[in-house]
Amino acid sequence: MDEFGSDRSPLPRNMIENSMFEEEPDVVDLANDSPSYPIDSPSYPIDSDDVVYEPRSSRLLVRGLGENDLDEDEEDYESSARLLGMSFMNRSSNQRSPGSSYTRQQTPGSCSMPSARTMVVGILILVLVASMAMVIYFLPGCTFTRSGCKKANSTMEKIYPISTSGELFPWTELRLPASVHPVHYNISLHPNLTSMTFQGDVSISVEVLQETKKIVLHSSNMSITKATFDGKDVKILEYKPWQQIAIKFKEDLQKGKHVLNFIYKANLSTSYDGFYNSSYEDTTGIKRVLAATQFEPLAARKAFPCFDEPAFKSTFLIRITREPKYTSLSNMPKAKTTDLKNGLLVDEFEKSVKMSSYLVAFVVAEFSSVSKNVSNSTVSVYAVPDKKEQMHYALDTACRLLEFYNKFFDSDYPLSKLDLVAIPDFLAGAMENWGLITFRETTLLVGNHSSPIDKQLVTSVIAHELAHQWFGNLVTMRWWNDLWLNEGFATYMQFMSIESVFPDLNMDTEFLSVRFKALAKDVLNSSHPVSAIVNTPEQVEEMFDSVSYEKGASILLMLSSALTKEEFQKGLIEYLQTYKFANTESEDLWNSLRQVSKQPFNVAQMMNTWTIQKGFPLVTVKRNGTQVTLTQEHFLLNPDNVTDDSSLWHIPLTYVNDSCLGCKQVFHLKNKTATLKLPDQVKWLKFNYMSDGFYIVHYDEEGWRALIEALKADFNVLTHKDRASLINNVFALSRLGKVSFKQVLNLMDYIKKETETAPLTEALFQLGQIFGLLDKRSELNLASRMSSYIIDHFGFLMENQSWEQESSVSKMTLRSALLDMACSLDVANCSQNAKRLFDKWLNKSFEIPSDLMTTVFKVAVQTEDGWGVLLDTYKYSIYDPEKRKALKALASTQDVRKIIWILQNTLDGSMIPTPEFPFVVHTICRNFAGYLYAWDFVKENWDKIIQKFPIGSFAIQSLITSTTSQFSTKTHLMEAQNFFSSLGVRGSQMRVVQESIETIKMNMRWIEKNLETLQKWL
Ligand SMILES: [Zn+2]
Repeated sequence: MDEFGSDRSPLPRNMIENSMFEEEPDVVDLANDSPSYPIDSPSYPIDSDDVVYEPRSSRLLVRGLGENDLDEDEEDYESSARLLGMSFMNRSSNQRSPGSSYTRQQTPGSCSMPSARTMVVGILILVLVASMAMVIYFLPGCTFTRSGCKKANSTMEKIYPISTSGELFPWTELRLPASVHPVHYNISLHPNLTSMTFQGDVSISVEVLQETKKIVLHSSNMSITKATFDGKDVKILEYKPWQQIAIKFKEDLQKGKHVLNFIYKANLSTSYDGFYNSSYEDTTGIKRVLAATQFEPLAARKAFPCFDEPAFKSTFLIRITREPKYTSLSNMPKAKTTDLKNGLLVDEFEKSVKMSSYLVAFVVAEFSSVSKNVSNSTVSVYAVPDKKEQMHYALDTACRLLEFYNKFFDSDYPLSKLDLVAIPDFLAGAMENWGLITFRETTLLVGNHSSPIDKQLVTSVIAHELAHQWFGNLVTMRWWNDLWLNEGFATYMQFMSIESVFPDLNMDTEFLSVRFKALAKDVLNSSHPVSAIVNTPEQVEEMFDSVSYEKGASILLMLSSALTKEEFQKGLIEYLQTYKFANTESEDLWNSLRQVSKQPFNVAQMMNTWTIQKGFPLVTVKRNGTQVTLTQEHFLLNPDNVTDDSSLWHIPLTYVNDSCLGCKQVFHLKNKTATLKLPDQVKWLKFNYMSDGFYIVHYDEEGWRALIEALKADFNVLTHKDRASLINNVFALSRLGKVSFKQVLNLMDYIKKETETAPLTEALFQLGQIFGLLDKRSELNLASRMSSYIIDHFGFLMENQSWEQESSVSKMTLRSALLDMACSLDVANCSQNAKRLFDKWLNKSFEIPSDLMTTVFKVAVQTEDGWGVLLDTYKYSIYDPEKRKALKALASTQDVRKIIWILQNTLDGSMIPTPEFPFVVHTICRNFAGYLYAWDFVKENWDKIIQKFPIGSFAIQSLITSTTSQFSTKTHLMEAQNFFSSLGVRGSQMRVVQESIETIKMNMRWIEKNLETLQKWL
């Protein structure tokens, strides 16, 4: 699946992955009865008054009652409690009536006229006394009493929710209290794959760190039939909106160890998270079922009651009861199997390392496997038996990457086994559960037909998930606000490791386009800092986006270049050693890097400018002889003209010039403006060498002219990445209004001579975006002129691409981009060639090169026969890459009836699995024929959609972006605004909604500004 449904990258979003190790959770921070996020962190509202509550109509408001003052009687009488609260408040304010004698004190005076000095001193004394009086006046009356103030006064403003039973729920925050934390879980589960239910028995050894009268933890969608605390029955209170349960005690619990036990039952989930059931048809047409888990970020609580926050690390011992025909897997190796003599077996797994709840996993299925030993671990790949031939590439790749990471991190993978499991019906791209990584079949299995591009995808996802075994599993972010510490790192490491271990896969160019993508997402005012404020479940879901993944990886690349690769690696080793089995924040990483760095700049100071403010800088370069003036400002495509002048970045600017090609130089720009003195005269200057930095550069007129001339004379004076970055930047600047579209076309003049993949695919992508915008506005004349422009500039290359097998990944990437565009513009005999290949393929006399398969299928699907063949291919192929390309073609049909059919069938999951819905919608929206139907379909089926995908999740983000990102008219803007505002609690607060509105406005503005220029220059 495309990463967030973007046009840009064919990689799946390697999204949800989790894992971690741990060690002691930070006892110092946890040892207070407050939310477990760090109190001194500026990112979090820590005052309970700042917590966002559920709609108040649903709850009882009790003001003035301390949390320990609630007793059963008060809780049972809502209206009485409300009245009590009100009267208590009145009493409090009476205590502060201005009757205090302190306020009436007077300064001694004199009858004679005071001197000026006396007057000044007098006034000072008056001010001082008045200030003291004010302070005393505002102190509670109890301050000076012998007994002091009762604790109740410090919690006066708490608002308690109502639990399911009607009693007051004793906790008021989304984050759990830190007074009690889990040490070990014993979890016994018995899934029934016929009734699709499961029974559970969980014992949690907890440690009370601070005396408290309550224990609060998470639980969702389960029926708890019995609960005990230290062996005695206890009553459970549940507050469903926050998925919390609580036990209240009459007396304070003493510090020390205790045991909680829950016996419960629940349905296996049907929504791809929690402990869920999945099914598939085998090659004989028999339906098979399995049960698997997906817990990140908030769904472990759906499988067992737990303290479901990343900082509550603990050990786990898991037992699974199963029928003999199934295999069960969990994070750890199997310790023993017991025969219950009733047709059931119980598998018990070894006690786990210390880890977060979101990394726990188990699978019960009929799978085949292959295994191999690497270092001290056994690596295995599991899949359905029909696909056992497709597991070898993944096994070999995982082994090679595991060896690489063991060495690179100077710390061996700590478990004795690592399983990689392909789940037939899986929503995310993959999930890094410690020791039991789960994948979509597409992202793990490689058949004989698979091309190097298919392998590039599988390798990327494996590399990403394996990196998480260190970044995420061994060392984990303390809270979801720092998700980038997991995802940014894993994304960075996936490119870095593959470049070393599989250099032929051309990941370098791939990483460049990922950086461009991250920039494009981060230009919006509605973007967010890498390390953002996160409180609600929706906000947690929203963190799984381009900023955490791609921008996170991009700023790490920039830092690695600024430090040198060697220092960066040393810093990472230091970080992993220091924090293994524990939780961290960004600051901890900077400190580790600072310890090993010999560079003159402060790592933390520099990187904080990139992680705690959103967006990125635009650097403007003005040159006068050898004097270069550099200015930075927030690059913000803001249609509402909101100014944000306060942003300032510490930019490790790099540059090259014509006097020494490839000699990178560095200048640290920390202020708004700075001057750089060049030693000699130069013809041109190119900043952001190789596009390693996360910023865009604008030059003065002379600067652009010199660069364009240099490109036209001999484009090889700049690296292919620099050429691609100039193209990317000039289009971005044109959207910002800093350069005219004429200037863009001026730069693009050189492209006819270009031969490299990165600049050509970037240019095609940018022009394709504009073509799509014009096409969807029905600016037919201009769209046709843009089409002619593309053909004029790329026609030669399009005509000269081979349609035969190709082995270079770079050439395949370029060819598929060129020919896909050629066929969609119906040029260069593209469609005829595609049809010819399709017919040969049908006759089984030819194998379509895998990189051309989508293009060929998309042409073929437009006929009735072709549609039928491809539908069968989708249904019956056991090769996932082929299946997916067939699906992409089916979703590219121009036939409206078929578009509606495929939308309905995917959302229902009747023939196409529901996890493909975002992919299908994204594909439909790329074409004129279907994008409005897809938009209407999403609107009409919104309630059904949010039952399948959580609000804020990457799937929902993708659906909204796909359907609205190409609107550019006022009518569509209003339609989108009306729809989103009608959603209310069903999604109107999502960040992606703001992004969508902002993008439409941006499109409108761009069209308004550039229509005339396009008319003139295209
Ligand atoms: Zn990840």
